[in-house]
Amino acid sequence: MIHEILPVGRLQCNCSIIADENTREAMVIDPGDEVAAIQAILQKHGVRVKQIVITHAHIDHVGGAMKLRAATGAPILLNQNDQALLKMLDMQAAWLGMSAPEKVDIDHSITDADKVEAGALMANVMHTPGHTEGSICLYFPAQQKLISGDTLFAGSIGRTDLPGGSFDKIIRSLHQKVLSLPDETIVVPGHGPLTTIGDERESNPFLQTR
Ligand SMILES: [Zn+2]
Repeated sequence: MIHEILPVGRLQCNCSIIADENTREAMVIDPGDEVAAIQAILQKHGVRVKQIVITHAHIDHVGGAMKLRAATGAPILLNQNDQALLKMLDMQAAWLGMSAPEKVDIDHSITDADKVEAGALMANVMHTPGHTEGSICLYFPAQQKLISGDTLFAGSIGRTDLPGGSFDKIIRSLHQKVLSLPDETIVVPGHGPLTTIGDERESNPFLQTR
């Protein structure tokens, strides 16, 4: 498995480039910005993007998606419950003092029981509402790796005070879905350092049962 993590844009969203070294097929997760740098990594490995997967429709995660789609022809996969947020991309850009990206189209909505693939690599989609209504996590069972978007961070969880956010829902998503994964699972959050499910189960202050 080729897996490069590139922090992109001013908010340093962790963009993942995942590829099968045999078939040279790739998926790009959360191309929030810096599409040229993402393309340079794809080129370095000689891989073709088959899917662009977005964990949720915040601008720092989805901002470069249309540019990457135009460059690669790969479809954009995003849970449809974030459609309302996609319509607010100009507002999101204004909050951050950024220029608004072009309108983003969802090619396929993905949710629980769906799979995303690059060659022989496969991730199960987990719908984990809370940070946003359409937030998803991606779990690669063969690699025991979770791309957690802004649902789970090392030592913290995603904020729930933005439109579509719900503290009750994110806690439910974490306990019912994310924490059902094995302790060994490596977690690649949407921002900041990597962690494991075991470490977060043990020490994340938001996940302690009271
Ligand atoms: Zn976010």
